[in-house]
Amino acid sequence: MMPLSQYNVEQKMGNSFSHLPPLDLCVLYQKKTMSFQLNCPNCGKRAVSEFTFKSELKTRPAADADFSEWTDYVYFRENNMGPQTEWWFHSSGCQSWFLVERDTTNNTDHRSFWYNDSEQPDNN
Ligand SMILES: [Zn+2]
Repeated sequence: MMPLSQYNVEQKMGNSFSHLPPLDLCVLYQKKTMSFQLNCPNCGKRAVSEFTFKSELKTRPAADADFSEWTDYVYFRENNMGPQTEWWFHSSGCQSWFLVERDTTNNTDHRSFWYNDSEQPDNN
């Protein structure tokens, strides 16, 4: 005879969770969550949880650019799959903004640098 607590759970849930993998597989998935480190130019390597992602590096439109160019700049992102340059903020550290070259598919091969040390993007 099963314990009363187990009986109540199975009776109430029925097969509503039958689409989920067994509990031991759920634990396995949790261990495979993706994390990585970023190299703050000021503080060195830290867990990505210390940082806030802003966006990819984009070219700022000219002050007299039309409304659609400014809308693209402010609201739309390329969301590339692969290498891209991004703005990051060390929110739990030195409170600095910097750029990271990161491959978004695997979070590897990235380097971090200050904006002033970067090649300035073309204004085309
Ligand atoms: Zn820092």
